[in-house]
Amino acid sequence: MSLSRNLVAGGLVAGAVGGTLAALRHPTFGAAPEGARLDRMRRSPQWDGGAFRNPLPMRSSGSPGAIWEWFFGGDGLRTPDAPIPTVARTRADFEAPQRLRLTWLGHGTTLVEIAGRRLLIDPVFSRNASPGPLFGVARFFEPPLRLAEVPDLDAVVLTHDHYDHLDHATVRRLADRVPRWVCPLGVGAHLERWGVPADRITECDWWDEAEVAGIRLVCTPARHFSGRFLDDRNRTLWSGWAVLADEARLYATGDGGFGPHFSEVGERLGPFDATLAEVGAYNATWADVHMGPEQAVRAVEEARGGLLVPVHWGTFNLAFHGWTEPAERVVVAAEAAGVPVCVPRPGESIEPTAPPAVERWWPELPWKSADESPVVSSGLDGAVAQAGLSEAA
Ligand SMILES: [Zn+2]
Repeated sequence: MSLSRNLVAGGLVAGAVGGTLAALRHPTFGAAPEGARLDRMRRSPQWDGGAFRNPLPMRSSGSPGAIWEWFFGGDGLRTPDAPIPTVARTRADFEAPQRLRLTWLGHGTTLVEIAGRRLLIDPVFSRNASPGPLFGVARFFEPPLRLAEVPDLDAVVLTHDHYDHLDHATVRRLADRVPRWVCPLGVGAHLERWGVPADRITECDWWDEAEVAGIRLVCTPARHFSGRFLDDRNRTLWSGWAVLADEARLYATGDGGFGPHFSEVGERLGPFDATLAEVGAYNATWADVHMGPEQAVRAVEEARGGLLVPVHWGTFNLAFHGWTEPAERVVVAAEAAGVPVCVPRPGESIEPTAPPAVERWWPELPWKSADESPVVSSGLDGAVAQAGLSEAA
């Protein structure tokens, strides 16, 4: 009797939770891949049972203490207390064809002009990189190029479906303006739900290629994860991209921990003129999903990545470190390793053949060095991990 009552009660609770989840599935959460899309995902070497997985084991993170610190911790340095000097841009600035020019617009959002074409990587123009303002991941500055001023694009290129890279409102605004959308497996389900026509979406597995207006886009491995809701962890793939033209070659690492995939990218696709390298939002306890500045330098070396252009920093408060620390550390590590680096202001265009010298446009704030706060991905051989650290020391 008591068992059946428990079963009934359990069923009611499960039904209520399920109903609540269904009601909560606002469009911003995206859509679950199904049908032919899901069949293709299941055939991927990266698919394992019900989700994608990384080849290297992932050290767990997200302890209760870390979550508490995420919401309430920090020392006041995590967000700027004065306006960030952005470079305001308009559509007219991007009319002349470029061999290779990169305009960092904040976080992962980067306008890439290559061989006369224009690509936009991970466009996020909303105020929040979260399901809504409730979760409070607000940007530090207005986009230096307004969405209405974005020039005609040949494609949008996406690395994965996290909120700070794939933005519902931005996709809706660009859906009928952009002829091609290139993304890792499964991400197209979100795009379709948000109004991008299915025949404009090209989904790639790692090492797959898409051609866009004469540009080769190679989907490269990354060590990360995905998900926008409570029930979809790793149900879409994550990646970096190599952007290859006769005149120029660019690598974008995407989000992720350090791993042997960087040397494989270098062997198969390098050398590159420049690399958009993820340098921020790191922490020792989640070093398998965000590599941090010193390992980013190492990644650029291994990928034969050319000029290091840091991204994934200075825009959203997503970790415990001071907001300027990724820039300070990547400059130190790059100089120690002899890797060329430049740190553009938001909105500033740089040409990798003639990069500007590093100029500190951010304030001088206290920050922790690699020795004080090391970030080392797990599962690597000792030599690689040691090199990443010693170069930063
Ligand atoms: Zn991510």
